[in-house]
Amino acid sequence: GNREWVDINVLAKEYFQIAYQGQRAKDKDFTAELTTNFGAALPRLEVIPQEIGRVLLNLYTNAFYAVRQKQKTAVTDYTPRITLETCLMDGHTQIRVGDNGTGMAESVKAKIFQPFFTTKPTGEGTGLGLSLSYDIVTQGHGGLLLVESQVGNGSKFIIELPNASMSI
Ligand code: ADP
Ligand code: MG
Repeated sequence: GNREWVDINVLAKEYFQIAYQGQRAKDKDFTAELTTNFGAALPRLEVIPQEIGRVLLNLYTNAFYAVRQKQKTAVTDYTPRITLETCLMDGHTQIRVGDNGTGMAESVKAKIFQPFFTTKPTGEGTGLGLSLSYDIVTQGHGGLLLVESQVGNGSKFIIELPNASMSI
């Protein structure tokens, strides 16, 4: 893929639609409430759009899985919710993907960026999504991939990209 100057809000929305349609195609009863908060007047970023798109797809797919898992075991009313936010943070742009799914124990969180680490049954996960995403964001784009999570409450993944272009 080639580097292009892109509007991160447009990219994040586009790939959400792709991921959500894909999820509903294989799981026709799936619905989730999306809450968005897109930063205004974000600078365009020079990224490889297909690669950041791939990271977003991984994050959305994981979020959908986490809310489905929670829904399967929920004893009270439960509505799957996804949050998608972008914002400017001194010299960086953040894209945050949140879910109110299962969340992760500390012991799981410690390993999620390792290749082949998965808690999913065989056939449902390869454990490669986040390790690949980590490489794309850090080595490929000079950014950071961060995570916050609480068991039972959900998770939030944060892609942080430098606003100034990197020379690679
Ligand atoms: P896979 O999805 O194939 O398991 P990933 O690298 O995408 O591989 O994720 C690794 C593991 O991280 C998952 O198996 C799961 O345990 C955990 N994980 C990732 N995203 C989430 C999330 N949004 N909520 C809860 N757990 C997550
Ligand atoms: Mg995954």
